Amino acid sequence: MAKKNLETICIQGGWNPQKGDPRVLPIFQSTTFKYDTSDQMGKLFDLEDTGYFYTRLANPTNDAVAAKICELEGGVAAMLTSSGQAANNYAVTNICEAGDHLVCSTQIYGGTFNLFGVTLQKFGIEVTFVDPDASEEELNAAFKENTKAMFGETISNPSGAVLDIEKFARVAHAHNVPLIVDNTFATPINCRPFEWGADIVTHSTTKYMDGHAMAVGGCIVDSGNFDWMAYGDKFHGLTTPDESYHGLTYAEKFGKGAFITKATAQLMRDLGSIQSPMNAFLTNIGLETLHLRMPRHCENAMKVATYLKNNDKVAWVTYAGLEGDKYHDLAKKYMPNGTCGVIAFGLKGGREESIKFMDNLEFIKIVTHVADARTCVLHPASHTHRQMSDEQLLEAGVKPDLIRLSVGIENADDIIADIEQALNKYV
Ligand SMILES: *Cc1c(COP(=O)(O)O)cnc(C)c1O
Repeated sequence: MAKKNLETICIQGGWNPQKGDPRVLPIFQSTTFKYDTSDQMGKLFDLEDTGYFYTRLANPTNDAVAAKICELEGGVAAMLTSSGQAANNYAVTNICEAGDHLVCSTQIYGGTFNLFGVTLQKFGIEVTFVDPDASEEELNAAFKENTKAMFGETISNPSGAVLDIEKFARVAHAHNVPLIVDNTFATPINCRPFEWGADIVTHSTTKYMDGHAMAVGGCIVDSGNFDWMAYGDKFHGLTTPDESYHGLTYAEKFGKGAFITKATAQLMRDLGSIQSPMNAFLTNIGLETLHLRMPRHCENAMKVATYLKNNDKVAWVTYAGLEGDKYHDLAKKYMPNGTCGVIAFGLKGGREESIKFMDNLEFIKIVTHVADARTCVLHPASHTHRQMSDEQLLEAGVKPDLIRLSVGIENADDIIADIEQALNKYV
């Protein structure tokens, strides 16, 4: 059958019931799976046979949802993780170990900034943060002998910067390392980074994929395009025998599936950040309408961003969908059908006015969340990015007065009316 379109994959991908199977993806709420002989189970532990044996390593509900996301991204293999944080942690530590180095865009989610800049540093992995808008020469200068990967976000949370994926891929590949792209905000409905040269994609499925703010989760997808064997001494974890798996070599035995197999067999086995099958089930319900929700998020966000832009109480607006936005041209190239529902803006009067404005919103709620069906708002400098200094905030593109408005799929006029009444109260 011909390759399916995204809308069909959202509905049909991942679960293909056979005679008498449940039509709907079931929740395999079981830690363990049964075999007839000891030898059958032994083969699973040797990775000689495929099958389920323990949910920490693999579970049918999780696998079906990972397969759907994999198909949406156009990858070859994928795994679910307990959170987006776990996805980015595993994506990097599957190839970087103590003594290695990572080049990373400054325009990333605050949690990822801490993960790479603080926690991985403690594990001996060094990171250099680079301005994603820097020239190729400047980006090249950040690479070292021990650099193992490059990382960026398609649309950065919360600053709304659009990554020039082709430029990053060119630079990464010139240094023989893979490009990892966190595609959480764009989702595969609006951007498929593999088509532009990214090698590995990560997601916080907690956001638009779930879409209902019900389940924290993450996903890693491999394009299968990066040739680990070609730079074998750089990626020895994939290209030399794993003694904890009877000396098998992932890149030899699993070919294009090597990256995800290693991440599952080693990292998930040892670190255990699994997604619960229940959460995978909920995420799957969200995925079934992702193709309907994303255009509506974008349409509403365009209306709200246009309203804000034309309001004289508003100091500035960042939304790549807006004509004249710094990232509009990149957005048109990489996301011609729309970007996402998240807008960043600041009010005249700065930080204090921004906080007062938020406290006066009615149905738009202050929550530590983003990218779900309900419009919500957050002040990163007081909330998600509270641990960062003003200098770090600015480096990450987060102005101290930045309000992150996540436009939902309610009626756009009602969203604007709520913003307007709150602006009229204080500003
Ligand atoms: C939220 C988010 C994460 C972290 O995901 P969790 O599911 O909250 O762990 C990573 N990257 C981006 C872009 C995010 O928005």
